[in-house]
Amino acid sequence: MEQEKRTLTTAFGIPVPDDLNSFTAGERGPVLMQDAHLLEKLGHFDRERIPERVVHAKGAGAYGYFVVTADVTRYTHAKFLSEIGKKTEGFVRFSTVGGEKGSADAARDPRGFAVKFYTEDGNYDLVGNNTPVFFIRDPLKFPDFIHTQKRHPATNLPDPDMFWDFLSLTPESIHQVTILFSDRGTPATYRHMHGFSSHTFKWYNRKGEYFWVQYHFKTDQGIKNLTRHESGRLCGEDPDHATRDLHEAIERGDYPSWTLEMQILTPEKARDFQWDIFDITKVWPHGDVPPVKIGKLVLNRNPVNYFAEVEQAAFSPGNVVPGIAISPDRMLQARVFSYHDTHLHRLGPNYHLIPVNAPKNAPEKSYQRDGFMRVDDNGRGGPNYWPNSFGGNGPDPAAGEPPFEISGNASRFPFTHPNDDFAQAGVLYGKVMKDQDRENLVGNIVAHLGKAQKRLQLRQAALFCKADRDYGRRVAKGLGLDVERVERLAEMSQEERVKATAQ
Ligand code: NDP
Repeated sequence: MEQEKRTLTTAFGIPVPDDLNSFTAGERGPVLMQDAHLLEKLGHFDRERIPERVVHAKGAGAYGYFVVTADVTRYTHAKFLSEIGKKTEGFVRFSTVGGEKGSADAARDPRGFAVKFYTEDGNYDLVGNNTPVFFIRDPLKFPDFIHTQKRHPATNLPDPDMFWDFLSLTPESIHQVTILFSDRGTPATYRHMHGFSSHTFKWYNRKGEYFWVQYHFKTDQGIKNLTRHESGRLCGEDPDHATRDLHEAIERGDYPSWTLEMQILTPEKARDFQWDIFDITKVWPHGDVPPVKIGKLVLNRNPVNYFAEVEQAAFSPGNVVPGIAISPDRMLQARVFSYHDTHLHRLGPNYHLIPVNAPKNAPEKSYQRDGFMRVDDNGRGGPNYWPNSFGGNGPDPAAGEPPFEISGNASRFPFTHPNDDFAQAGVLYGKVMKDQDRENLVGNIVAHLGKAQKRLQLRQAALFCKADRDYGRRVAKGLGLDVERVERLAEMSQEERVKATAQ
């Protein structure tokens, strides 16, 4: 059989006669403008990079499926959760948060855990992290917080002073800081960590009943972490270790999986709940809201092209399907705006047409038209407005969520319920962690906080002291601080403490 001729072409399919020598005027003369192939090649190369995500820039992803293992139909009528055994295709992108696109996978940082479910009611994006809580709970603080985790404006270096200045001025961060500086802040690989929705979401059923829920994807590979020495070594020797690990595991058929456990809270129970369920710095203690296993997430297929499928993957927490809704969590509300907005900037208004983002099991039937890179048939000649009487698609009221009660005055309210940002970090340190975990936590903090100014060390050590006295004392000792002074600072109000550590 005649072998298929594999002729190189331009982007427009025109055969290329020579891809090694530019078209020049004479053997040693200048390149001629008429070398359209060269111009096309350079012009495209010059535009290869798209804007880097401002957070979660370094990532790895894979395809797989989600399968339901328990009946949850009394809580939600989401179609992809409608029966035991039901399978839905999915795509997951893992990432670090603060580092740039070429940064090391082993860095101490939360890890992104973003799941896309290609359901028959459209794409459902659950955009979580490997931690159940977050540093802040009001989105007004987010850009400031991220600036402090990145590079100093003058030196372009990570800056321990701005890192700890912000955190010590933001006491609600203490819970997440404790998790971040435990060895769970440096997971061994993406396969060996949990994923959490972190936010509260709403599930609702056809009867109009609703429930507040939190998602926990528990790794079936087991939790495995790096010590700071191991992570330091890997950052230098193998900065892409977690990306490689995920790819190689899937290539050899060792498919990673996670068991999805849900915490489900009735509105009645939520009303008197001891924690503010819309405060993302808090968890729901398992003793109060026991998690129930409802499904399994399995990753079994590597992307064939990183840029097309992972770099261009776009998740938005606003993409919820009927049966699931957003909660009033302020951070979640802002993320509904920010993620979509980022993708409009990064990928353009038609990013939903990129195959990894396209709702492949529920094709788009909207009236949105035109825009850069509109590469489908753009709704052909059908109506491009609603309402219309030309047979266009109309809204389905059944896809809406049941109302829930809100009352009070509109204003800018601080979180006050309950007024304790330290208790849960204290329980984590004092009751959940083992001796070795505590020792590593203190060592990890001392190694990092020790690089900040003394006054910031004092202020932050006092916050650890407020979470657990032993915790604060050990950090203070490790830093060579006056332990009694730290304890006195811990007794003060935040305002007094900030004043006392101003210089
Ligand atoms: P439980 O004893 O029922 O649960 C403790 C949880 O802590 C487990 O999920 C465990 O995860 C996890 N854990 C263990 N070590 C660490 C660590 N170094 N960093 C982060 N998490 C860790 O207690 P409660 O539900 O009453 O919660 C107690 C504290 O545990 C909370 O204040 C919170 O800090 C932490 N936690 C709670 C979670 C929740 O949703 N309730 C979720 C995660 C942490 P594993 O099973 O994998 O070991």
